[in-house]
Amino acid sequence: MLKALRGTKDILPADAALWQFIESSARDIFAIYDYKEIRTPVIEEASLFIRSIGNATDIVQKEMYVFSDRGERSIALRPEATASIVRAYLENSLGQEKAVTKLFYIGPMFRSERPQKGRQRQFHQLGVEAIGSDNPLLDVEVISLAARIMRALGIKDFNLNINSLGCQKDKANIIEKRRKAVKPYLNSLCDECKERYNKNVLRIFDCKNAGCRKIAEGIESDNLLCSDCAGHFEAVKKGLKVIGINFIVDPKIVRGLDYYTKTVFEVTQKDLGAKDAICAGGRYNSLIEEMGGKDTPAVGFAFGIERMILSLEKDRHLIKPELDVFFAVTGEGMHEKAFQLMNNLRDKGLSCDIDYDEKSLKAQMRMAEKLGARSVIIFGEDEIKREKVSLRDMLKREQKEVDLKDIVEEIKANSKKGAISC
Ligand code: ATP
Ligand code: MG
Repeated sequence: MLKALRGTKDILPADAALWQFIESSARDIFAIYDYKEIRTPVIEEASLFIRSIGNATDIVQKEMYVFSDRGERSIALRPEATASIVRAYLENSLGQEKAVTKLFYIGPMFRSERPQKGRQRQFHQLGVEAIGSDNPLLDVEVISLAARIMRALGIKDFNLNINSLGCQKDKANIIEKRRKAVKPYLNSLCDECKERYNKNVLRIFDCKNAGCRKIAEGIESDNLLCSDCAGHFEAVKKGLKVIGINFIVDPKIVRGLDYYTKTVFEVTQKDLGAKDAICAGGRYNSLIEEMGGKDTPAVGFAFGIERMILSLEKDRHLIKPELDVFFAVTGEGMHEKAFQLMNNLRDKGLSCDIDYDEKSLKAQMRMAEKLGARSVIIFGEDEIKREKVSLRDMLKREQKEVDLKDIVEEIKANSKKGAISC
């Protein structure tokens, strides 16, 4: 039997309600902040990611799916969305419309990693990019948007960790200082970090290896920001305080992609275990210019949707299937008439389902229960002759005869009573 590829998963109907809940809650909040949706292709030229994310990063070195297409072009499945969005921003001159272009996206990303809980090869992210301003309040807006999404979903026990890498110059100083600080421990680092020492020393501070983590924790944090970047970071912290968002300053946060400057942040959540980052982001003030655009500052974040699902796992029971009305049909040859009425109710916007298998009434009632029906129409020959049906309120467990002309109102009233608010 054929199986889904390792590290990929089907999102089955039983899980889809939770996915929809997450996506629609996020969409509501994107609207509150005036972020507009962008959908970019899943495939791009591989060089886009190599240039932007950085040649020495794990994503480019080890995780990116790259293949040659029939025209021998080097194509990558996108490992993240920021690079694609910057490409689309420049290609379509999106910056001309507004001083700050505020975009959001939801979609699949691909990284060839070892699959484990909260880590897949095809996974999904939802995120934002705010392009066009270096104002620290925009960092605050983006972080508060992430916090508001978590609040809307009821994700609790999360920590917001922030840091600043400074401008390119500061970042170079930080790299230099950390290289010196790490040097005495070089032999104790994992093999990968030994390589990172030469190529990308900051990545050592992002390593998940326990030994490397310990060494990283022992290294004193640097205070190397220039006055402009230090002022920016202070303003971000002040802004977060003013709107009541708790945060922890963690100088060890460096992020795994080369393009970050100034503010970087990660949100961790207690229920996720080792893979505890649910959301990550920061400023990337040099990227757009590096990609051929004008000097344009920007800031963004990405949530991992699978990790949001893991954080909500214990509340999954709150999201139940819902159906306005189920048709239980009794008596010979009544299906066609029932189907006709069902069609009329669907015209009125009511969600309806019916049993196509002509099961017993008891079996049909069990099915109605399973589908989360608020009402059941028991469609029988005698009643229909009198222009009536029996209507069962599944919440109150009461049944009554209803005139066909009143049926829509009655069903709506039952649905209202039983509405689940998520
Ligand atoms: P990690 O430290 O877990 O490897 P990362 O630093 O590679 O994460 P980013 O590139 O910043 O992650 O992506 C942002 C978010 O996307 C992460 O915080 C996480 O929630 C999610 N994410 C990243 N990689 C995966 C994956 N392979 N499977 C599922 N979710 C992922
Ligand atoms: Mg990773």
